[in-house]
Amino acid sequence: MANDHDVIIAGGGLNGTTLALALAQAGLRIALVDRLSAEYRSAADFDGRSYALALASSRLLGALGLWDMLNKAAQPIHEVKASDGRAGEGSSPFFLHFDRGEIEDGPMGYLVEDRFLRRVLLRAVDESPRIDHLPDETITAQTVGSHAEAETASGRTLRGRLLVGADGRQSGTAARAGIKRFERDYHQDALVCAIQHEKPHHGIAHQFFMPGGPLAILPLSQDRSSIVWSERRPLARHIASLDDAAFLAMLCPRVGDFLGDFRLCGLRFSYPLGLSMARQITDRRLALVGDAAMGVHPIAGQGLNQGLRDVGTLAEVIADANRRGEDFGASDVLARYRQWRSFDRAALAMATDGFNALFSNDNPVLRLGRDLGMSLVTAMPGLRRRLMREAAGLNGDLPRLLQGQPI
Ligand SMILES: Cc1cc2nc3c(=O)[nH]c(=O)nc-3n(C[C@H](O)[C@H](O)[C@H](O)COP(=O)(O)OP(=O)(O)OC[C@H]3O[C@@H](n4cnc5c(N)ncnc54)[C@H](O)[C@@H]3O)c2cc1C
Repeated sequence: MANDHDVIIAGGGLNGTTLALALAQAGLRIALVDRLSAEYRSAADFDGRSYALALASSRLLGALGLWDMLNKAAQPIHEVKASDGRAGEGSSPFFLHFDRGEIEDGPMGYLVEDRFLRRVLLRAVDESPRIDHLPDETITAQTVGSHAEAETASGRTLRGRLLVGADGRQSGTAARAGIKRFERDYHQDALVCAIQHEKPHHGIAHQFFMPGGPLAILPLSQDRSSIVWSERRPLARHIASLDDAAFLAMLCPRVGDFLGDFRLCGLRFSYPLGLSMARQITDRRLALVGDAAMGVHPIAGQGLNQGLRDVGTLAEVIADANRRGEDFGASDVLARYRQWRSFDRAALAMATDGFNALFSNDNPVLRLGRDLGMSLVTAMPGLRRRLMREAAGLNGDLPRLLQGQPI
């Protein structure tokens, strides 16, 4: 059975679903394929992550008509504090401090739990008359010519003018097209959980740079915080295997007492960390977005944000080409997407890779250097403001959706 669509999207994760909604808003017909069932992906315990969404990302979700549904559960980030730390010693006196009052646009971003974001996206996909959502279907083969074709494990053939790989770090779409990846294993895992605490967090996101990796304590609604604790893999695996009481006994001295007593709420998760970067993000009638294009270390909370910048950029390039009557799967159109994303991709890969190498160690010389560096940035309002706008996703040549405008 052949199905004709404008665009076939392989992968219905956060980026694949958002792209489908953006292209549907531009009037295109989309096939959105995911190997997992929609029920499984929308289950509350599917993924324990909470995302620090940059302000620009929240504007993109607003332009797609989704932010009103998310806003109630989203926690605004009013301040960010980063400092060196060691278990039991608290944070170092040198720190980096960003305050929302320094940029006129509003909060730097929001913390949104996966269980809310994914459900809102999947519901919107199912309500869209222009999206054929095909859950429980795995894409197993693809061909390109005058059209792109994708075959699924159940024997379905999908046809479109463009195939988009939104199928994550192990992107089969990229592999089948012969696109190679640059991979770096950080030999760290991120231990992720949520805690309920006695004292309010005041909307402040904390990052402690510990010898084994950064520990992020990110504010959630209702006096809860999300913990993203990166540790060297053997120790992380040991900590992950502990029961909740023993896990908390390891976590407490690292967090310190500024939130008062706290307890775990919900399940614990762990994620291996690495950089996975596709060497090219376009090929004949093919484009990659999200982690399929590049998956980074969560040290700066930018992975999904950069995926949404892929989504906003690709959607705009396709929509504009379509309005002009161009074949949006053609190489010269896809080159616009590739060029628009190239600087941002390279800069983020280098920044996250470099920060992790600089901060995930206990070398006294590097420690002194970075403490001084953080104090220096804190003392320079112009530079601090520029970095804040960068983290909020407001710098650079932004596609319309990331400015909160319709496609
Ligand atoms: C610990 C941690 C914390 C993070 N925190 C933040 C943060 O605060 N802010 C931020 O911006 N980012 C953050 N990130 C990054 C963010 O989680 C990822 O960038 C994002 O989830 C990637 O989504 P995706 O849709 O691109 O890929 P994925 O979530 O990997 O989705 C890929 C989808 O493709 C499907 N699929 C795969 N193969 C096939 C196939 N052959 N056929 C059909 N379907 C297929 C899969 O089932 C899956 O649903 C964090 C990451 C980690 C590890």
